[in-house]
Amino acid sequence: MSLLYPNFTEKLQSMGAVRLRGGKDIAIFLPDGNAYTFTGSVREPRDLGFDIYSQSHPLLEHCVRQCTLAFRNVRFQSGSSVQELLWKNKRVEGVRFTHDGNTNSLSAELTIDAGGRGSRVPRWLAELGFQVPVETMIGVDFAYSSAKYRIPGYWRAGALLGFFRATSTFSKWCGYRANRERHVASELRGPFRGVPAYR
Ligand SMILES: Cc1cc2nc3c(=O)[nH]c(=O)nc-3n(C[C@H](O)[C@H](O)[C@H](O)COP(=O)(O)OP(=O)(O)OC[C@H]3O[C@@H](n4cnc5c(N)ncnc54)[C@H](O)[C@@H]3O)c2cc1C
Repeated sequence: MSLLYPNFTEKLQSMGAVRLRGGKDIAIFLPDGNAYTFTGSVREPRDLGFDIYSQSHPLLEHCVRQCTLAFRNVRFQSGSSVQELLWKNKRVEGVRFTHDGNTNSLSAELTIDAGGRGSRVPRWLAELGFQVPVETMIGVDFAYSSAKYRIPGYWRAGALLGFFRATSTFSKWCGYRANRERHVASELRGPFRGVPAYR
């Protein structure tokens, strides 16, 4: 992100992200004691020479949006729905979209589909006579659940970001992340195969 946007991490921090120093502010609580790397190789806190930024997903997206809007040659056309590709002279020359009930066209030298997994572009290309790309479906056995708590006054963890692992064979992790309001976002994550509620 810092390569794409000038002063990205400074902006992120000014919006509320917490900067964490690898090896000092991040602790892994293992059954046989604390560690400061996920492999468990570093057992005493020490500066590992890199920063990690902790923030909510919406805050990160907001920062990216603001930084993108700061480019003078970038314009967002919000509240619009692309309806079809403009196909002329054997090439895609833009899109047709609706906005406020009106239909408009936008010409472009290059049109990029960023419509995510619900993108209609494969269907539009098929309608234009192109072969539909082959889809690969990959099963994912991973789930997580999260909640937000206020940190009690007595809590002295010594680290701003923490991960707990109950036993060396228990594959689910629980983590917490402190923010400036002394809240903790806690997550339980891992493969849930075999857990009755997830079958
Ligand atoms: C519950 C959940 C949790 C996740 N957690 C993580 C995580 O922790 N870490 C991680 O890295 N990834 C995570 N992901 C995956 C991540 O969110 C996606 O990989 C990522 O958002 C894909 O980005 P994208 O820009 O390609 O598509 P999207 O974020 O899906 O954006 C596509 C956009 O295009 C718009 N759009 C679509 N069609 C049209 C149209 N015809 N006209 C106008 N606009 C259109 C949509 O409205 C949408 O805003 C998670 C996904 C889910 C569902």
